[in-house]
Amino acid sequence: MFQNKYAAATTQLQDLIRAHPQDAKDHATYALVLNYQTKQKPALDEALKAQQLAPNDGFVLTVLTRVEDWNNDLQSAARDGAAAIKASPSSALARAFYGEALADVCGFYVDYRTRTHRDPDAPRVPKTRNWPQLIAITTTDDIANHAGAQLLDGPRIDARAVETLSCTAQLLRLVLDEHGAIRSYQLLPSSVTDALFGAVAARDQGCRWPGCHKQPIHCDLHHVHHRAKGGKNSTCNCCLFCKYHHHRAAHDTTITLHMARDGTLTITYTDGTTETTIPPPRQPRLPQ
Ligand SMILES: [Zn+2]
Ligand SMILES: [Zn+2]
Repeated sequence: MFQNKYAAATTQLQDLIRAHPQDAKDHATYALVLNYQTKQKPALDEALKAQQLAPNDGFVLTVLTRVEDWNNDLQSAARDGAAAIKASPSSALARAFYGEALADVCGFYVDYRTRTHRDPDAPRVPKTRNWPQLIAITTTDDIANHAGAQLLDGPRIDARAVETLSCTAQLLRLVLDEHGAIRSYQLLPSSVTDALFGAVAARDQGCRWPGCHKQPIHCDLHHVHHRAKGGKNSTCNCCLFCKYHHHRAAHDTTITLHMARDGTLTITYTDGTTETTIPPPRQPRLPQ
């Protein structure tokens, strides 16, 4: 996917690095391009080379944050993201990459932590993922105004966030009248099984948003035709999006998504332009 988009930049940057091997910014830019080509390991090598040359440069640290995040080294990404902001406090890119790294740390903890007797908060990768359970309290007025809901013991979220969370969560929707009396309640059971998530993860191999390839472990399962509107829990109706693209793009009502039976995903924007992504080819590896 998208390999041609980066081909020209790759050649130019390789030439620049040959001419100026000590230029940290060239190495960092090349690292970012490699990252978006899903060449994660070479991207990390380049980003670390850049850091050796300019350890306190804001741009270098910003790129390193992104590359470490996508290499699944969340701890380093959070550390270097903080350093990037310290070095470049006004950089929007540094703040965006640091914010995503922090969100991945939190998401990973919530999705995969398990409790043990010895260390109740020890995060470790369990055999199965924790699919969230949420209780969303809404009122008749909120529903009339499309005003979202209040999570029990949590923040107030808008209608779009309710829909996004209910792609994967078991959701209890509690409707109260103006006096606080319960008018109705409805359990929307979690439709995502580990088997369905595993099958879609095997096909998509990461976030399906154009240009983003975040690993399945940091992705949500999205229902292209939302399950609250009758969408099926099937591989033909589900795809992976990282948390950023799931929350910020996939449920944007101005954007239309369509998925074909073979997993080809077409995104149509408000101005009528479209982008298409196909599941990446499998790259079978023989045992070493
Ligand atoms: Zn969704
Ligand atoms: Zn993404």
